Amino acid sequence: MFSTKERFKNCFAKRLEMMCGKRLQDSTTLDQYQTLGQMVREHISTNWIRTNEKNRSFQEKQMYYLSIEFLFGQFLGQNLLNLGVRETVKEGLKDLEISLDEIEKAEPDAALGNGGLGRLAACFLDSLATLNLPGNGMGIRYKYGLFEQRIVDGNQVELPEQWLKSGNVWGVRNSDQAIDIQFWGIVHPDTSSDRLEFRHEKAMVITAIPYDIPMIGAHTDTVNTLRLWSAEPSSNYKEYNLLTYKRETEAVSEFLYPDDTYDDGKILRLKQQYFLVSASLQSIVKSYRKAHSTLKDFHEKVAIHINDTHPSLAIPELMRILLDEEKMGWDEAWHITIHTFSYTNHTILSEALEKWPIYLIKPLLPRIYMIINEINEKFCRWVWEQHPGDWNRIENLAVIAHGVVKMAHLAIVGSHSVNGVAKIHSDLLKEKEMNHFYLIFPEKFNNKTNGISHRRWLLKANPELTNLITDAIGEKWKKNPDELINLTPFAYDSSFIEVFQAVKRKRKEDLIRVIKDSTGFVVNSDSIFDVQVKRLHAYKRQLLNVLHIMHLYNHLKEDRSAGLYPQTFIFGAKASPSYYYAKKVIKLIHSVAEIINNDPQVNDKIKVIFLPNYRVSIAEQIFPAADVSEQISTASKEASGTGNMKFMMNGAITLGTLDGANIEILERVGPDNIYTFGLQADEVVSYYEKGGYRSREYYQHDRRIKEVVDQLMNGIFADQPYEFEAIYDSLLDHNDEYFILRDFSTYAEAHKKIQKDYQNKAKWAEKAIINIACSGHFSSDATIERYSEEIWNIKPRDTRIILSP
Ligand SMILES: *Cc1c(COP(=O)(O)O)cnc(C)c1O
Repeated sequence: MFSTKERFKNCFAKRLEMMCGKRLQDSTTLDQYQTLGQMVREHISTNWIRTNEKNRSFQEKQMYYLSIEFLFGQFLGQNLLNLGVRETVKEGLKDLEISLDEIEKAEPDAALGNGGLGRLAACFLDSLATLNLPGNGMGIRYKYGLFEQRIVDGNQVELPEQWLKSGNVWGVRNSDQAIDIQFWGIVHPDTSSDRLEFRHEKAMVITAIPYDIPMIGAHTDTVNTLRLWSAEPSSNYKEYNLLTYKRETEAVSEFLYPDDTYDDGKILRLKQQYFLVSASLQSIVKSYRKAHSTLKDFHEKVAIHINDTHPSLAIPELMRILLDEEKMGWDEAWHITIHTFSYTNHTILSEALEKWPIYLIKPLLPRIYMIINEINEKFCRWVWEQHPGDWNRIENLAVIAHGVVKMAHLAIVGSHSVNGVAKIHSDLLKEKEMNHFYLIFPEKFNNKTNGISHRRWLLKANPELTNLITDAIGEKWKKNPDELINLTPFAYDSSFIEVFQAVKRKRKEDLIRVIKDSTGFVVNSDSIFDVQVKRLHAYKRQLLNVLHIMHLYNHLKEDRSAGLYPQTFIFGAKASPSYYYAKKVIKLIHSVAEIINNDPQVNDKIKVIFLPNYRVSIAEQIFPAADVSEQISTASKEASGTGNMKFMMNGAITLGTLDGANIEILERVGPDNIYTFGLQADEVVSYYEKGGYRSREYYQHDRRIKEVVDQLMNGIFADQPYEFEAIYDSLLDHNDEYFILRDFSTYAEAHKKIQKDYQNKAKWAEKAIINIACSGHFSSDATIERYSEEIWNIKPRDTRIILSP
């Protein structure tokens, strides 16, 4: 149906009439979107069925990626691109006087994630399918995704994100594969047989209904599955007050927790975690059981990955199934469990390490708690045998200690592999945060630097740059992104540079229209687009960026002839609704923007833009337009970052600390093609070990710093007195935990260098092109190959399935 333009047009018009009961000329963009989505689904249906059949036979090992977040954004454009039919569709629609761009825009973002962790999961599923790897995702079908951010008087206001309002064409409800999950109740030992068994009684049962979304690989027949679970009342509801029960049940898959760092300790979050893992594990075991009579070789055919600690309860859940349902002995069950699971750590921020109080977990999940307890006791006994009398070591390693279950400890003890997400992060895990575990399990620890799908972040987000690259070096890099390195000589080719600059300018002009529409401000396309887009968090240091902009403002007000090259500072960031400090930083950005953008003395030199509601679909418009990529986290705090890679791939130069994957970007592009500044991780760590540094000294001795910090309190940027007191206090009274004042001076120097270098346009383009050439290394295809070979032991399918006609 996509083979030729004519065929497509016919099918599309007919299908639309059939589905919507309207003529094409009366249809809405939403009708057209739904129709096109249905056509894609029908087109891939045979391949999807065949991939599923093959996977379900478990002849080859399968991998399941468990994640509490999947941040996909929109599907339609990427699916059309991966199928290689986007041009045909675009041309066909054009004949019908319909714009494919408009249709694609009508799709609401699937924002079932907060930030990097969820977006990584989405890039991984794209790579798995494209590489013909048997890997599927499992998550929660939140009724409301990450909140929609509106800005009112400079303040963030949160609205529910109703992405399912007009249905969802991609998710197929498979109620025949529903799973029942038990919460609360009482566990009784049952000694009637010669084996000690446990019966879970009076449990509240919640049904998990799977919605399956096809994961369509690029130019291949593989269609993997993302299975999202939705919570519904079980038909076995009789013991409960019907209304309360229905409400409690549906709440489980209602909201995504809008917090990507620390857990707010709500019991609902714990319910969500167990809901995800119990539904997933039961369904995996069930389908494995159809192909195999016993589970004794389960770990040979199944790998399960735990994306951060949120799905760690999968470990005791598999134990429960093996012990209680399969009647296996502990040792055999534990052997299978360890060999099945692998775990990725995403952060060393100590406040982000999940800990569940026993008083919450024990009543909610009584059998699971018993199993965790036993895992802990056996593990501690084992440590004791190796290190008799070393209580200290046991206290540091225990899964349960001081009244809480430590989820990271459970994940490490119950997995055969523990990986960090960039070299420096994996090293810090081994040497610092998880050193106690590294000493007893050195073989478990490894690094897998994050990656991004170049299909979404270059092919889809920046088609003109894609074509430019292809004109220069041919098509092969699309399949094998390492070949982008062949672009290097073009960094010195003046005619290539010229076209490259023209494409960058067009992307900037596109973004200028978006900025005008959403903020009303008019921006100059000749200015440097300096961009910081990511979640708002103290450690990411948006505040350092703002304070520096305030300094530039002061500098310009003092000296109007200051030789500043025009610069546009662009921000996009959501703050967790309960994160007071982060919301104040958003307000500060707006206050500074208001003053600067409306001051004719400075606004031809600097502008400040905050793009509301940062999400995947707007990110796709931002990265291609950027000149400078702000990656300025306090060294040691950003595990990897992936935004840094998206910018690099679109020819923006990194201005960053030596943190996360920035270090690996530096290794690739060399010091001439990146701007680095600030304390290094080991310096930060040793300051912390000494109890911090004296931020007041920097405040007192650097006139620039004193001036901007005082401006937080003296009211020139504030609507109300003391509006930014919390920010002021964080810098001076709380001793600047994130070293903002400490790094201010080297940050300002780096900016000066950028100002100077940018004015040599050809040289700047050279840097940009070298960045693109080196970015193939950060494709998630390469990352996924390393996970597959070194952790999951899964292999690409060798048999090609014939594409459906
Ligand atoms: C890539 C991405 C992130 C992660 O950005 P970092 O800079 O690595 O924190 C967050 N949100 C969205 C929408 C993204 O696309």
